Amino acid sequence: LLVMAEHESLEFGKADFVLLDNVSMEEFMANLKLRFEKGRIYTYIGEVVVSVNPYRAMNIYGRDVIEQYKGRELYERPPHLFAIADAAYKAMKRRNKDTCIVISGESGAGKTEASKYIMQYIAAITNPNQRAEVERVKNMLLKSNCVLEAFGNAKTNRNDNSSRFGKYMDINFDFKGDPIGGHINNYLLEKVCIALFSSCINDGADFKAVADAMKVIGFTGDEIQTVYKILATILHLGNLTFGVDGDVTLIENTKLVSVLRELLSTKEENVEKALLYRTVATGRDVIEKQHTTQEANYGRDALAKAMYERLFCWIVSRINDVIEVRNYDAKIHGKNTVIGVLDIYGFEIFQNNSFEQFCINYCNEKLQQLFIQLVLKQEQEEYQREGIPWKHIDYFNNQIIVDLVEQQHKGIFAVLDEACMNVGKVTDEVFLQGLNTKLAKHAHYTSRKLSPTDKSLEFDRDFRIRHYAGDVVYSVVGFIDKNKDTLFQDFKRLLYNSSNPVLKAMWPEGKLRITEVTKRPLTAATLFKNSMISLVENLASKEPYYVRCVKPNDVKSPLLFEHERCRHQVEYLGLLENVRVRRAGFANRQTYPRFLQRYKMISEFTWPNHDLPSDKEAVKRLLQGCGFDHDVAYGKTKVFIRTPRTLFSLEEQRAEMV
Ligand code: ADP
Ligand code: MG
Repeated sequence: LLVMAEHESLEFGKADFVLLDNVSMEEFMANLKLRFEKGRIYTYIGEVVVSVNPYRAMNIYGRDVIEQYKGRELYERPPHLFAIADAAYKAMKRRNKDTCIVISGESGAGKTEASKYIMQYIAAITNPNQRAEVERVKNMLLKSNCVLEAFGNAKTNRNDNSSRFGKYMDINFDFKGDPIGGHINNYLLEKVCIALFSSCINDGADFKAVADAMKVIGFTGDEIQTVYKILATILHLGNLTFGVDGDVTLIENTKLVSVLRELLSTKEENVEKALLYRTVATGRDVIEKQHTTQEANYGRDALAKAMYERLFCWIVSRINDVIEVRNYDAKIHGKNTVIGVLDIYGFEIFQNNSFEQFCINYCNEKLQQLFIQLVLKQEQEEYQREGIPWKHIDYFNNQIIVDLVEQQHKGIFAVLDEACMNVGKVTDEVFLQGLNTKLAKHAHYTSRKLSPTDKSLEFDRDFRIRHYAGDVVYSVVGFIDKNKDTLFQDFKRLLYNSSNPVLKAMWPEGKLRITEVTKRPLTAATLFKNSMISLVENLASKEPYYVRCVKPNDVKSPLLFEHERCRHQVEYLGLLENVRVRRAGFANRQTYPRFLQRYKMISEFTWPNHDLPSDKEAVKRLLQGCGFDHDVAYGKTKVFIRTPRTLFSLEEQRAEMV
């Protein structure tokens, strides 16, 4: 049955938000809530799936359900992730197109679970002939997820198992449509989480599961040992404290130094020296400069964060080695198409928003820009294909905000980088002054200095961005440090000089002597910007499908739908805008044979069979007869229905007949 069937519409709410009588926040929320309460966690906006985290085991992912969705059209079954996965797979296989599935939502909204179900679905419907190599690849792809989750997740107060990174995974398919490999990219692992991370890793059982998964993927014993050692190092670094004796900085718990020495397979005095001194080149001389306790603390934290980040990147690259497309033939000759799955955090608005939130929200502006371009482009292309005139759709174009952040010279990232390059005073305040000077007139930027009477800007260090999804106040505190993200070269040398080859290989830049280190490393902002630009370029080359995840409450309750919280997310995800854009075009489209199959009983011209020259003619005659001719357009293969009301009427008439 089509999802628009009455019983769906009335009892379980509208299965597609496009079918709402009025596009208002109230109606949207009422429908979302009703469906959540009725256990309908998925709802469409056209081909976008909106998902609400059920916080309970749902019996909707089994083999039987997979079979129901396999090879079906989107509207033939109730909204489900499987339908999106199938649509992406079908487009890839039938039309030879690269596709991608973009999953977004806030921490704990259900993104990672969604990506797992999508992968499981794809794994379940492929490789009917049980080819061994394909089975191996499928197993690796599923297992790699487990390892990445274990290392990339932190136990935060918002979510027990929250991914602190964005992950993009390509799955490669051969000409038969079977997976033959993959590749993972990770984005901005939030390094400050390691303190929290060490709360998860204590769990022995979990740890064993991860180690087993690593073994299956092909990590060697030495590699797994090194991973343990690095994690232990990070934990111990957290306990290391510094003191002063006169004007000498020293390590208070010296026993830890020998533990670190052993974990890092290096010399004890080297560990101590790297923690207390830095080597600086002044002209021709190279001198050892002692840290203040403050610098020593900073250095220790930077080391722990950098080791964690490097470990994570290394694990990703090792996984990539294993899942890379092996078959030389497939790589060179075969048709090799891709489905990309992006699992990335949505807008973040906390009590205090800093550099991380700024990056994440910039990322969402980029994705929104892509969404606008692609959805409109997709619509436009379909209309062209079908020979239907394109009408301009009015929408808010957020390019202005993307530019505000990433533009050369006067964008926020550029101002930040410039402040970091300052000779002399490099402070967060200098950065803020730069923003105020360069962006004073920008419609989407303001700050406490520029709007002194604005109540939302509470502190001198606050600035505010008008994002497409709403206003966010950021504090500049910490921007400079997080952007420079400096790890003293002495640490890099320490790790490079380890006699543990696995560890050494992670730190190749430690090879350089201090006098050879000339180039400034790229800043965190620049790296992030570059990775976002290439991510978006990559996605733009694919046909997109979207999953928008909503978190119903903060207490993991399967019963509680916190209205205000959900409303916020609907706003930040831009879902109403999405419905508007979708409805500005045609609410529904169906191929002629399918349309007839469903509605032929409501017209004497078509029931039980028509004698017109084509299905298209028959549909025309049917719709003219019902008086809906004005609300539809006839494409080459599909009929396009503009307003949902027409569809309802058709459904009503059908219900009277059957
Ligand atoms: P995110 O990746 O968006 O931070 P997760 O996908 O890790 O969030 O989901 C957080 C938690 O919510 C999961 O650990 C699980 O307990 C629950 N959850 C999410 N999606 C579902 C689902 N479809 N069915 C049941 N529980 C879910
Ligand atoms: Mg996640």
